[in-house]
Amino acid sequence: MPRKVGLAGGFGARYGTVARRQYVEIVTGLRSKHECPRCNFQTVRRWSVGVWHCRKCGFKFAGGAYTPTTKLGEIAARATRGLMSPSTLSTELDSLRAGARVAAPIIMPAKKPRTRRKKPAAEVAEKVETKVEEETTGESEAPAEI
Ligand SMILES: [Zn+2]
Repeated sequence: MPRKVGLAGGFGARYGTVARRQYVEIVTGLRSKHECPRCNFQTVRRWSVGVWHCRKCGFKFAGGAYTPTTKLGEIAARATRGLMSPSTLSTELDSLRAGARVAAPIIMPAKKPRTRRKKPAAEVAEKVETKVEEETTGESEAPAEI
């Protein structure tokens, strides 16, 4: 078996492909340089969890744990400035939650064969249910005649 190298190489074959891939994506984001919101240079690096620091102008600011800005943080910043009505805030938060569900599209192709297998079983179950309904209606009519 070929030994997996990379950021998640220390994991070996453990924790699954999806978890290892997500780990690599997050950690590469942590170690790469980001754009400074003050001087717009690609000089911002993570100082600590949620704390980001620009090496060019020394600007230190609070952000996401793994990225300098998060979608939730952007919504919160706009809401704090008073540019948003409570209804638009709730719709924006709902759209963020919906996006979070879509954010894991890697798992979808693996699930497809499983749903295909389930479909014929569900069709059979529906047919059985209709048969049972027909039988029960026949029985219920019989005592009504007597
Ligand atoms: Zn800067």
